[in-house]
Amino acid sequence: MKKILLSTPTMHEEEMCYIKEAFEKNWVAPLGFNCDNFENEIADFVNSTSPTEYHALCLNSGTAALHLAVKLAGVKKGDRVFCSDVTFAAMVNPVVYEGGIPVFIDSERDTWNMSPAALERAFEKYPDTKVVILVHLYGVSAQVDKISEICKKHNAILIEDAAEALSAEYDGQKCGTFGKYGVFSFNGNKIITTSGGGMLLCSNKKDRDKALFLATQARENAPWYQHEEIGYNYRMSNVVAGIGRGQLKHLDEHKQLKTQIYRRYKEGLADLPITMNPYTEKCNPNFWLSCMTVNEECNVNPLTILEKLAENNIESRPVWKPMHMQPVFSGLDFITDGNDNVGENIFARGLCLPSDIKMTEEDQNYVIEIIKSCF
Ligand SMILES: *Cc1c(COP(=O)(O)O)cnc(C)c1O
Repeated sequence: MKKILLSTPTMHEEEMCYIKEAFEKNWVAPLGFNCDNFENEIADFVNSTSPTEYHALCLNSGTAALHLAVKLAGVKKGDRVFCSDVTFAAMVNPVVYEGGIPVFIDSERDTWNMSPAALERAFEKYPDTKVVILVHLYGVSAQVDKISEICKKHNAILIEDAAEALSAEYDGQKCGTFGKYGVFSFNGNKIITTSGGGMLLCSNKKDRDKALFLATQARENAPWYQHEEIGYNYRMSNVVAGIGRGQLKHLDEHKQLKTQIYRRYKEGLADLPITMNPYTEKCNPNFWLSCMTVNEECNVNPLTILEKLAENNIESRPVWKPMHMQPVFSGLDFITDGNDNVGENIFARGLCLPSDIKMTEEDQNYVIEIIKSCF
């Protein structure tokens, strides 16, 4: 029986052309022309909608990009960092690598992303906090104008984890270009992939240069190997960057297919006590993953749907389990807007549905039929 998966790589022809070029020139090492071009192409793409110019650096993972952003933002041992609570742990781990203390900020119902009201309350409790890391979940932007405003008011640096939100926009501006630093991931399941990789966006050139220095083992400018800081091996290879260049040409097409998938679910599930993951008027999502929640008045458990889908060879997945519920982060503070506990609620009712762009309409109708049979 055919398997219907959540989100898998979709390759075209250009990727192989760029890889071939790297092989023909025997330039398979880290750094090189594909890296330079991939960086420039991503920078052009995001800068087309951004009032500030961003400088891009390609790295071997989104996590590496987040780690460097956390370092550039100056997070030191014992510093608190406000982090979206409903997210992937990869976003929070780099704070801990640097000895920082994550404080988890609850989501809002309208976007599933960081609640501005909860962030305000966090600054009341910890007014000295200097860094905020915001995720745009499943390709839906947070209310990033409100979040930026609050960060400015409190003199805090904003890092955007746009790993899932490449090409998503808020108020006509691309996600990743609202903070001092932005991060994309090209992991295998993301909207475009390099098999594995990431991109750091810096709003000034000096930071981009510093990130490159740290990502290449912090080698000082000297004839011998001179080191005055601890560095990392975080660069992307020239072969891998070639995949990214080919994929980037198809980003818009991927986004359109993902959008269609979301719309078909919305229509197909309209008669059930189900709500699709929400977004606000100003948001133009990339619909990386279509997600649903079972309505509160209904007692169908999303895990029952997950199991039923799995029996039929269909992959689905619970929505991200909130960080404050993770054993590894137990004991860390979690701040809500004072009335609601949104992340736990979404986690209890939510499910990510197959959103692979190679899924046919018939495949998707089959998925919808199975979900219907659970009610
Ligand atoms: C995928 C992802 C990351 C990590 O990116 P990698 O390239 O896998 O290291 C970080 N944050 C979020 C929200 C992600 O979805």
